[in-house]
Amino acid sequence: MKMQNVLYLSNLSKDHLHTLPLIVLYLTDGCNSRCAMCDIWRVPRQNMDMELVHHIVKSARRLRTQMVLLSGGEATQHPHWPSIAAQFRAHNIKVWLLTNGLLLKKQAEAIIEHVDRITVSLDAATPELYQRIRGVDALDLVLEGMRVISKAGVHVTTRTTVMRANFRQMPFIIDVALANGAQSVSFLAVDSDNPYAFGPRFEEQSTLPIASENDFGPLKEAELAEFQALLERLFISHAEHFANGQIEESPTKLRRLYDYFASLYGKASFTPPRCNAPHISVVIGVDGTLQPCYFLPPISESKNLDDLNQPEMIALRSAYRRKQRPECSRCVCPLYRGPRALLQGF
Ligand code: SF4
Ligand code: SF4
Repeated sequence: MKMQNVLYLSNLSKDHLHTLPLIVLYLTDGCNSRCAMCDIWRVPRQNMDMELVHHIVKSARRLRTQMVLLSGGEATQHPHWPSIAAQFRAHNIKVWLLTNGLLLKKQAEAIIEHVDRITVSLDAATPELYQRIRGVDALDLVLEGMRVISKAGVHVTTRTTVMRANFRQMPFIIDVALANGAQSVSFLAVDSDNPYAFGPRFEEQSTLPIASENDFGPLKEAELAEFQALLERLFISHAEHFANGQIEESPTKLRRLYDYFASLYGKASFTPPRCNAPHISVVIGVDGTLQPCYFLPPISESKNLDDLNQPEMIALRSAYRRKQRPECSRCVCPLYRGPRALLQGF
């Protein structure tokens, strides 16, 4: 077996990392969307410094990174994101853009030139609901952008955060996404309690209404049966899309969305997800802070990727692997790569 493959696989058996297959980069905490379930757009904007980017690119090369996920905030709001993407690609590191889609059309040329794949947040199938959730009237603009990018050959997927306001639109969201250039769609449950994602929404000064009291949070107990029935109908009406992978989750995985919401009311048990995110990836904040994943807090003062194997980082990997991190038990966005997937690359 090639030495490179041995190094990738050693991530799965040891807490000391020799490679870092995926880097998630928060390029900016600015965002041009106004989502009801997120506070990021309310805080003053900070963009990642280019010197920090150069340092990360150098480390990524040394750590044999396969993919960088540009995120934020809204990554396309960083004034130099195309040049950042180009720097990674110059070292054969693929670029994946996670975007709200508002600038897809305007920045199509740069995206087509510098990005390997995009994931567009698509939380509604109608302009009215889109505006209610995302705070801007832009569904048509986003869909037009998806068509342009997809037509140029960039891999386009969508991701929907399922919440009270939109669970009834799930079947239509699939149809709208696939009709507008998406190769596949995916769903995750709205997070109900993690303080490290989506801005300072649990701090006292947060202006965000408490999720359980509005339409942008988890389903209410009275809606559970309707959601369960909707899912079962979806498995039949869209059986072909499950079979050909256009819906990325299997029916079994989508039933976990029901379990997640139902467990809030003691109506189901939610099994902690399979995840090895901290062994195969890192999340780097706008100021260089290293987070083991979206939902676990920074565990060191270090802002240097070369410190990936500091004792506290190794201890964190050991702890979550031994199921000692409570955040993992209700995580809505795990990431798991087994040996074969890891060797195939992102
Ligand atoms: S959820 Fe994403 S797109 Fe919406 S405001 Fe927050 S960062 Fe922007
Ligand atoms: S399950 Fe979630 S919180 Fe736990 S390590 Fe994975 S991504 Fe992080």
